[in-house]
Amino acid sequence: MNNRSLFLAKKLAEQHSLKVEEYAELIRYRTDTTAKFLQEHAENVRKSVYGNDVYVRGLIEISNYCKNDCFYCGIRRSNKKCKRYRLSAEDILACCKSGYALGIRTFVLQGGEDSFYTDDLLCDLISTVKALYPDCAITLSLGERGKISFRKLFQAGADRYLLRHETADAVHYGKLHPVDCSFENRIQCLYNLREIGYQVGCGFMVGSPYQTPEIIAKDLFFLETFRPEMCGIGPFISHKNTPFCNMKSGTAELTIFLLSVIRLILPSVLLPATTALATVTPHGRERGISAGANVVMPNISPLSAKTNYILYDGKICTEEEPTLCLACLKKRIDSIGYRIVTSRGDPVKTT
Ligand code: SAH
Repeated sequence: MNNRSLFLAKKLAEQHSLKVEEYAELIRYRTDTTAKFLQEHAENVRKSVYGNDVYVRGLIEISNYCKNDCFYCGIRRSNKKCKRYRLSAEDILACCKSGYALGIRTFVLQGGEDSFYTDDLLCDLISTVKALYPDCAITLSLGERGKISFRKLFQAGADRYLLRHETADAVHYGKLHPVDCSFENRIQCLYNLREIGYQVGCGFMVGSPYQTPEIIAKDLFFLETFRPEMCGIGPFISHKNTPFCNMKSGTAELTIFLLSVIRLILPSVLLPATTALATVTPHGRERGISAGANVVMPNISPLSAKTNYILYDGKICTEEEPTLCLACLKKRIDSIGYRIVTSRGDPVKTT
């Protein structure tokens, strides 16, 4: 079967597409040789589109209040041990100010689904940030909202929206979420965001409980058809106060393999090497970049937020000041022959 996975890897490198059952075989029968082959091809593709540039997104974790109860997530509403906080508009503006001074030109506002952040509050905040920093992009990652809300936030100036689809298999979705979460609604949100005009990001956890190669194949097929501008993947890591506390984590090996696969499917996708990847293996971000990723997301939240926005156990960099965080990332990226650039980092349009 060794030859089969290599055969499929070659086909993917040439055609940027496989059938859904072929993706499953590529994953199931993968070997070190296949991984190396894909990595080299993915690195070439990403270099041909983005050169050696690595884009930076300043992540601001605005709230860990959440109305949802996702089985995997440390800030789920049933986790009574989670110390809740939310940042005010002033706190968020202060993060943008210090982030801007560090050269950050994209601010990602991420949080639980917290009704404190009304459309009016967010629209005011977004238009203020855009007025102060017209050369910056704003990315939102605030979960599912109605289409009218998404449109208002877009009109206020938000440019991008990250909403991982989590899994493209409806049955699997039901195993990761309680019944009040709807797979159909999550996917519909992605289409709504696209229609409104956002640059859209989807994505999934690697090695989430009950995930199989066939399910990942569906995720890849979904990426191939939806063609998001951005895609976030990282290993699932258990959190001690969740129903999945005893589930084993996803591996760096499979995550890195899939980063290469995704780069080949979507040559110009904005693909972060995530903190979760760096949490499961030393030099995770460097390995992710070398395998085809082209974005890093230093955390520029205030320390008080960082220490409480804990989605999974062992999260790294929760005690570092943003200045140090960025300096450390720069050093890491330099060490592998890439360079962090200061720009909005919009997707390159390829055919
Ligand atoms: N409320 C927002 C932001 C969620 S947090 C939303 O619904 O989109 C961002 C991502 O972290 C999630 O989409 C999920 O894929 C990931 N995540 C959550 N818990 C995790 C865990 N235990 N291990 C790894 N990733 C996790």
